[in-house]
Amino acid sequence: ERTPVTVIGLGAMGRALAGAFLDSGHPTTVWNRSPGRADALAARGAAVAATAAEAVTASPLVVVCLLDDASVHQVLDPVASTLTGRTLVNLTNGTPAQARETADWAAWHAADYLDGGIMATPPLIGRPEGFILYSGSRTAFDAHERTLAALARPSYLHSDPGRAALYDLALLSGMYGMFGGVYHALALVRSERVPAKEFAPLLEAWLTAMLPALHIDAAGADSGERTDADASIAMQATGYVNLLDTSRAQGVSTEMVEAMGALLNRAVAEDTSDLVGLLAAERAPAK
Ligand code: NDP
Repeated sequence: ERTPVTVIGLGAMGRALAGAFLDSGHPTTVWNRSPGRADALAARGAAVAATAAEAVTASPLVVVCLLDDASVHQVLDPVASTLTGRTLVNLTNGTPAQARETADWAAWHAADYLDGGIMATPPLIGRPEGFILYSGSRTAFDAHERTLAALARPSYLHSDPGRAALYDLALLSGMYGMFGGVYHALALVRSERVPAKEFAPLLEAWLTAMLPALHIDAAGADSGERTDADASIAMQATGYVNLLDTSRAQGVSTEMVEAMGALLNRAVAEDTSDLVGLLAAERAPAK
């Protein structure tokens, strides 16, 4: 007997989530602001609710995946009373503060709340590569873990509902930082008419070789010990000038790489190898 589920929001991600629930045999009810998005899901057996309230009342487990926090509240605030006694799983991208606020709002309406960060693209939903981070009600997670596993590998982080959003944004930060460097690298080789496709395998090999160094940086960030015995920060800051100068000489924008140069210079000035500590200095130390 599979748990009935409701999916609110049928964008690219919501449709993938609803499809994965259908594939694993869950009675699935869907709703979307604009009609027509549910047609293909209805053909696969989904029940299409006429209103958001009808969608919520159809299932004990309500998954919402909308554009942003504002859209979540636009849809759910008017139907809040229908959430009482149900579990709300919010897979909409947002901030830790928004997650905590929505958790308080859900508690006020006597709904169990899980906030989630989807670390997958729609084609990866229902497949083993992706994962979804959850935080908030442990009881809700334990009760629905098997159902949520239909979407992607579920990983529970913490009772603080904001933790999943924090991890999600930190993981995206790592991804965007890496791709910012990738785009600069490809622009640099293309500025001398080297096809990006020809250079890409070398870039992949280099990034793959360098990636494990993040564990050294992580350990250094936690311990405060110097981590630059093999590659001193001063040497890196000196070499980095060549990267910037060459970019300018080749007519390649330095917008993606200037910030790292500035951070290396600050580390030299402050005689530290703890780049993480320099960035995090404005915040209290981690608990
Ligand atoms: P889409 O842009 O494809 O879909 C957005 C959805 O939000 C639509 O269902 C849209 O309804 C709805 N919506 C927007 N504004 C409102 C509103 N004011 N009231 C009601 N409904 C509204 O986005 P995705 O499906 O790709 O993404 C959804 C969430 O999933 C986002 O938070 C995103 O960050 C997250 N995510 C997406 C990933 C991806 O690769 N796509 C990966 C990981 C997370 P309508 O059809 O009526 O416009």
